[in-house]
Amino acid sequence: MTKKILCIVAPIYNESLSLADFLEKLSTEADDIQEKFSIRVDYIFVDDGSRDDSFSLLREYDFGERHVRLLQLSRNFGKEAALSAGIDAADYADAAVLMDADLQHPPEMISDFVRIWLTEGADSVYAYKSSRRQSEGLMKAALARTFFWVMNRNLRYKIHQDAGDFRLINRRIMTALRSLPETDRFMKGLYAWVGFRQVALPFQPPPRLRGTSSYNPLRLLSMTLDAITSFTTTPLRLMAMAGIAIATFSAAYGIYVIIQHFFFPTVPAGIASVLALIAFFGGIQMIFLGLLGEYVGKSVLEAKKRPIYILAEDISRGEDALEDRG
Ligand code: UDP
Ligand code: MG
Repeated sequence: MTKKILCIVAPIYNESLSLADFLEKLSTEADDIQEKFSIRVDYIFVDDGSRDDSFSLLREYDFGERHVRLLQLSRNFGKEAALSAGIDAADYADAAVLMDADLQHPPEMISDFVRIWLTEGADSVYAYKSSRRQSEGLMKAALARTFFWVMNRNLRYKIHQDAGDFRLINRRIMTALRSLPETDRFMKGLYAWVGFRQVALPFQPPPRLRGTSSYNPLRLLSMTLDAITSFTTTPLRLMAMAGIAIATFSAAYGIYVIIQHFFFPTVPAGIASVLALIAFFGGIQMIFLGLLGEYVGKSVLEAKKRPIYILAEDISRGEDALEDRG
């Protein structure tokens, strides 16, 4: 019987500070897993157009016997695109583990993923942050809740609120993910959308030790808007419902004003309230139009059908690596 193959897929963007540490910890873990479950563990690292020397570090690293594929994207395409490149390259594997290269995804968890995949027949095993609420501010937690409330309006599939990209996905899920044509890839949503049997494991992400997170609050906000508009049309529905509510209320108010005019004539309320109302509804219309524009813009971008990423380098390491892939 040939051994099952597991690919560790990690996107890498400006991680030269933590890379050596990551590779060392990962290799200890990978060796353990190979022995314990008698499977083969390969690596696929995708350099997402790093501006530091991450890729040359990878290129010069001694991986020993391990089968390693080093991909470099032609520029920074974003983590989701880098992950997609990795999943595409892992087409020969039985399963892939997606993880960050900054050691915020503890390699020790991979063996739990593998155990559940092999013994319980799960199609995917993913980690979720068990104590997000305490570690993040009230404000951020409230925003996240609103976000997932909007996202999870539909009842057919649910996006796990506290899960990230740290997960094992088997061949079926990889094939399903590859078949999704969109250029704008909100991975958390796509994992949930494809379905299959998925098992969640709690974990406590450690703080980033070296380097800085690529995501500041502004970028997170814009990604949130992106995620919502690329995954659900619930906001459009909410807009229509708000319109109906406001129209109903205005009509009722109109009737009230007419009745008042004929039966209880009083002094008119003045121009300030009218101005306030005009400004208010002007603002609401602007927000709604802007949101509508987001959706239209998104369809324009998707209609171009551009590839998700462009490769600049593709290096294979390890004996008969190419043969296995053929
Ligand atoms: N990353 C990437 N492309 C980017 C930004 C990040 O490939 O444009 C990688 C990064 O190297 C890391 C992972 O994605 O392996 C998570 O990034 P980061 O730690 O900055 O995000 P956070 O942990 O703050 O969510
Ligand atoms: Mg991180």
